[in-house]
Amino acid sequence: MPIPLLDLKLQYATIRDEVLRVTEEVYESQYFILGKRVDDFERDFAAYCHSKHAIGVSSGTDALLVALMVLGIKPGDEVIVPAYSFFATAGVVDRVGATPVFVDIDLADYNIDPQLIERKITKRTKAIMPVHLYGQTAAMGEINAIAKKHGIPVIEDAAQAVGAAYEGRRAGALGLIGCFSFFPSKNLGAFGDAGAVTTDDEALAQKLVDYRVHGGRPKYYHHYVGGNFRIDALQAAILHIKLAHLDSWSEGRRRNAASYGKLFAKAGLTDRIVLPKELAGRHHVYNQYVIRFTDGRETREAVMAHLKRDGIGCEVYYPLTLPQQPCFKNVPGAADRYPNSEAAADQTLAIPVFPELKESQMEEVVSEIAKALKTAPAHVS
Ligand SMILES: *Cc1c(COP(=O)(O)O)cnc(C)c1O
Repeated sequence: MPIPLLDLKLQYATIRDEVLRVTEEVYESQYFILGKRVDDFERDFAAYCHSKHAIGVSSGTDALLVALMVLGIKPGDEVIVPAYSFFATAGVVDRVGATPVFVDIDLADYNIDPQLIERKITKRTKAIMPVHLYGQTAAMGEINAIAKKHGIPVIEDAAQAVGAAYEGRRAGALGLIGCFSFFPSKNLGAFGDAGAVTTDDEALAQKLVDYRVHGGRPKYYHHYVGGNFRIDALQAAILHIKLAHLDSWSEGRRRNAASYGKLFAKAGLTDRIVLPKELAGRHHVYNQYVIRFTDGRETREAVMAHLKRDGIGCEVYYPLTLPQQPCFKNVPGAADRYPNSEAAADQTLAIPVFPELKESQMEEVVSEIAKALKTAPAHVS
């Protein structure tokens, strides 16, 4: 039987009645954008994230973009980002005309290495944007200390990390502004595109609300140039239903991650595969369960081909580092080496970890990886 990387139909089956009921209510109301459904979701989502304010927006990318816009980041400014992330993290920096400044990651958590940040700070640095990749927060204690010393705001890219925590505080409440994606494959997924921005700062929250509607307040009076970053009522209504289930889904992911740990150890594979590790003080929500083949890219490619042949879903997040992206070839620092980011791009593979995954399916995934490794080229050095 094939095992998908993510099977959203199983989750939908458990909430179908609730979802169809609110969907019908929204259709009957014919009220589609912003409004009470959005207010209600924002209130509960802010509380969930230990944050004072949440502003629903059109996508995770727009959450990041509007965060940069309300901070006034503009051409000539620099924003520090990890060299390894989803494209949008650096893409939004370029879109406001600023320069992404890449910092290598730590292979322990695949997040920005705080030790390497300070040497990249200049007079032009206007924000630090750590990403909580795969569902584990970055080293926020160290990052916030550096940011505070230099008076630079921190924007969290928490797109993959809803519900993750650092020393008991949840993602979205760990910097000045938190940015979330509700893309369907994220841990809290909408039925389409949606996102949110969180902050404790009253003035920034008001600005975010204004920027979401082209900067107009009152309507048609524009003190700023914002955009159309609105969230649909339908998405907010569905997200509100799903929010109540989120913790149990995250627990399912954590349970599966723990099972994989045991299964990989039992199969004797931990000398050739580095498993994800929950670091001290962090609460990992495993948006992805990403393993790393220390033998190198060839081995990763061989295992991936074997799994795909067997109908086992797996994916590389991401095959290129950000500085390797062709569109960034003229960005200063793009030609430098980012060894850990390059190792991640070459060696990692995400395997199924969704909450409804069965123990027997995980056993099959591990046993197929074991088979693939028997024939895959081992490291020659
Ligand atoms: C998904 C994602 C985004 C973008 O979110 P969208 O909702 O797809 O626009 C940004 N950053 C990271 C790290 C992501 O995983």
